[in-house]
Amino acid sequence: QYEIQRAAGEGFNLSYDWFGRSSRPANSALTQHFAQVLEQNGLIEERTSKQVYSVDDGRFLPDRYVEGTCPTCGFEKARGDQCDNCGRLLDPVDLIDPYSSVSGSKNIEIRDTNHLYLLQTQMQDKIRDWVNSKGAQWPGLAVSIANKWLDEGLIARAITRDLSWGVPVLDADGNPRPGYEDKVFYVWFDAPIEYIAATQEWAEATGN
Ligand SMILES: [Zn+2]
Repeated sequence: QYEIQRAAGEGFNLSYDWFGRSSRPANSALTQHFAQVLEQNGLIEERTSKQVYSVDDGRFLPDRYVEGTCPTCGFEKARGDQCDNCGRLLDPVDLIDPYSSVSGSKNIEIRDTNHLYLLQTQMQDKIRDWVNSKGAQWPGLAVSIANKWLDEGLIARAITRDLSWGVPVLDADGNPRPGYEDKVFYVWFDAPIEYIAATQEWAEATGN
């Protein structure tokens, strides 16, 4: 298997020089930097949303981890995002007798939770200009996917979530951001940054 992978890589003129991980300090530091610069430029906003909290599990639950009775068809194992019986799209607060699918506990409540949102809406025109200026060098599929997203309209998207595992949310002094002690960056935000952080680690280790 290793030989197959290596041969495939060599076919694309790739070599394997550095094994990085997004959990390393370099990625955490660079992720803080990106978030702080975005915030200084007015592209990050704190918003409050309502989310299901499981008291017995001690955690917020993603929509699909909440189950209960469908208000439309009475199916008893409808998920918080959708009823698999009648196909209706649901909000977890719509469910009758909701329970946590993690533990089965019915001791759940709706709580406010704050998160940082990346205001991609404000970057719509700049990103379209950039895609138009660079797209000629990209594969056609990449250009059409990028334009599809832009045509549908970019939305503000949460870059943090209620989870214990991941890159912590820190302030400029390196302390936990108040109110974000039990939150981390969403992996979609920090994982692409890891490519840059891993390159930084490689450059520092090899003197390149
Ligand atoms: Zn249903």
